[in-house]
Amino acid sequence: MYEDNQQAMIDALHQDLRRSKMEAVLLEVDYLINDLKNTLHHLDEWVQPTHPAKGMVNILDEVVIYNDPYGLALVIGAWNYPLQLLLLPVAGAIAAGNAVIVKPSELSVACAKFVVDMVPKYLDNDAVIVIEGGPEETSQLLKEKFDYIFYTGGTNVGKIVYEAATKYLTPVTLELGGKSPVYIDNTVDIVVTAKRLLWGKFINAGQTCIAPDYVLCTKEIQDQLVDVARKVLKEWYGEDPQKSPDLCRIVNLRHFGRLETILDASKGKVAIGGNYDAQDKFIEPTIVANVTGTDKIMEDEIFGPILPIVPVANAYEAIKFINQREHPLVLYVFSNENNIQSLFTEQTRSGSICMNDTIMFYGVETLPFGGVGNSGIGAYHGKASFDTFTHKKSCLKRNFAAIGEKLASGRYPPYTEGNLKMITALMRKRHGPSLKFLPYLLAFALGAGLSYGIFAWNKVKK
Ligand code: NAD
Repeated sequence: MYEDNQQAMIDALHQDLRRSKMEAVLLEVDYLINDLKNTLHHLDEWVQPTHPAKGMVNILDEVVIYNDPYGLALVIGAWNYPLQLLLLPVAGAIAAGNAVIVKPSELSVACAKFVVDMVPKYLDNDAVIVIEGGPEETSQLLKEKFDYIFYTGGTNVGKIVYEAATKYLTPVTLELGGKSPVYIDNTVDIVVTAKRLLWGKFINAGQTCIAPDYVLCTKEIQDQLVDVARKVLKEWYGEDPQKSPDLCRIVNLRHFGRLETILDASKGKVAIGGNYDAQDKFIEPTIVANVTGTDKIMEDEIFGPILPIVPVANAYEAIKFINQREHPLVLYVFSNENNIQSLFTEQTRSGSICMNDTIMFYGVETLPFGGVGNSGIGAYHGKASFDTFTHKKSCLKRNFAAIGEKLASGRYPPYTEGNLKMITALMRKRHGPSLKFLPYLLAFALGAGLSYGIFAWNKVKK
């Protein structure tokens, strides 16, 4: 489906968000294809039951974990990466063996149409169906019983989804948002830092759940950053950024109005940009300096091309600032100092943490991606997607061999002190090498003993 329809996907993304081909391919089309290829390469291995370590008491038993699908999964997507955020979890759900109901966001109209048209053409119609609709239809859907719900979107709706799921105790993954901070210290290469920061902020016009939301740094770094950013933005988007083919548009007028309001209400100083055009749903890449923690712009996730800078004295003040707020989806730390990196890793909580870059951690398929606290529950990507949609079914397999029965028969009444001692000794946790290979060792020793016996017997006979 992806390979046959790459251009249709690029066109749909352009229609919904005026996405450039580069961002459409890198952040959605190729991302989907690569994730799927990775899944196909590894699926045979992922589905295999695993045999975890076991203790002395189960030495003669088999201990297994089976990978069961949950059953029917509901996947609800968001509009900002309307294909990737919807179809990536759908692929994980199918890989794990689930049937899926796919609910695209109604706000990204062209991409929703792509999914409605293509999924029935390429996928098993008995196992995967698409249901279109907005809040009303989704609320109806949520009244039904599902075996798993995977939701991507804002935190408020996430709470509605979570509440609906409690009715049937349905397990959920909630991929939510929040304000992802960036800390920059004076040990960095400021030009490289500015480029990595601005790229992460302004792809998709800032409508990225892991976009840097605001910067914490000293006033000196703020001045340097603004100077470099001015040059870099001119280099990237020209004198008139509205004419650049590389900048996306705001998804609709409601979101445009929201951004206009917070920008106008901010008491910070617009250091770069600040222009907007409602007719074109265009907002210029904007940096607001000298913002305080109580500014309007610091209340909710910005989700647009506006970057506030909040001056702080040092890393400790930045950590305090971060810890006074909800746990972010990601925390970005720009510093060459290992001590500073460790300080943020140890003293803050966030879904992910990324050092000296933005966004790129999202492309590492072996890193599970998800939030913590207000930024979400659960994680996916790569094998984590398969695991998310898989129930790990534990199994103990015993047999009727006399020795096994003898070993465990001390559990039966009448209870005696002697039996209690023997069983607790068998069950006691011991520090040491795993007993996983003990049966093989015993079998090997037995085999070797037997061979030697036969060899010796033959010799005696001769
Ligand atoms: P959205 O408006 O597209 O809503 C998400 C989904 O929820 C849609 O399918 C929509 O139909 C449904 N929905 C909306 N209102 C509903 C209601 N009242 N009841 C039931 N369903 C409802 O997307 P959004 O919420 O504007 O998305 C933006 C937010 O999503 C941002 O906060 C962003 O950070 C977050 N986000 C998170 C991730 C992530 O992976 N963690 C990715 C993208 C976006």
